[in-house]
Amino acid sequence: EVDRLSDLEKLKVLGHGNGGTVYQVRHKRTSAIYALKVVNGDCDTTVRRQIFREIEILRRTDSPFIVRCHGIFEKPSENFSILMEYMDGGTLDTLLKSHGTLSELSLSNIARQVLDGLNYLHSQKIVHRDIKPANLLVNQKMEVKIADFGVSKIMCRSLEPCDSYVGTCAYMSPERFDPDTYGSNYNGYAADIWSLGLTILELYVGHFPLLSAGQRPDWATLMCAICFGGPPSLPESASEEFKSFIECCLQKDSSERWTVSQLLSHPFIAKNQGSEN
Ligand code: ADP
Repeated sequence: EVDRLSDLEKLKVLGHGNGGTVYQVRHKRTSAIYALKVVNGDCDTTVRRQIFREIEILRRTDSPFIVRCHGIFEKPSENFSILMEYMDGGTLDTLLKSHGTLSELSLSNIARQVLDGLNYLHSQKIVHRDIKPANLLVNQKMEVKIADFGVSKIMCRSLEPCDSYVGTCAYMSPERFDPDTYGSNYNGYAADIWSLGLTILELYVGHFPLLSAGQRPDWATLMCAICFGGPPSLPESASEEFKSFIECCLQKDSSERWTVSQLLSHPFIAKNQGSEN
């Protein structure tokens, strides 16, 4: 495939992220289009650690529901580049902003694909820990793929100090703030389900579901909303199946939350299996 960075031509900037820039690039010989994430080599150690983690996970994953990595290029002491498949629809976060809220049928298809991706990751003992609209990429075919493994965790490793506060705190599950109350049998995997529930709910209602309009999303407000408030739910107008699905994802006690395989056979997912939208 692509052997050298010089085989690629930069077309445009797709976005800026943690310590780096993502470009749309074209392979000169084949004209194939890719996304190239370039991270500065002189970034701080936290960013560096995240990049290595992302690279390690992208190297070992192989699933149609996870963004594919086509190569890693390193210029020692300069920068790292990660060549990925190009997703022409951008993230679900930008899709929400440009197209508005999504229908139940679209969300059933999106949720199924994210669950398929999580099923794969969890079977590889990987917890994503940062599932949110901005980390889910889409293309024109409405294929949805999980991206951004900077704070993910490979479960066989021992827990690092302060480890539970990585990720975007808004989508973090109650047991990650308070394992004594909400985490009997806490194993980490259930946290991804909570974040998926919040993500799907947000794409339906159009705003982050745990805060009211104008409320400042600071750490203390979020922690109070997540740990002391009731779990957010869908408006009355949503179908019973959809309401039930969200309720199963947003059980505050992690041991009562449904697992990936249970959710894959939930009627909200199973009834649209295979239908196009
Ligand atoms: P962050 O570190 O902020 O999570 P990234 O550095 O991974 O984000 O990506 C920054 C932006 O680049 C994303 O928000 C998205 O718009 C775009 N992007 C990232 N990867 C791809 C891809 N494979 N295909 C298309 N666009 C992408």
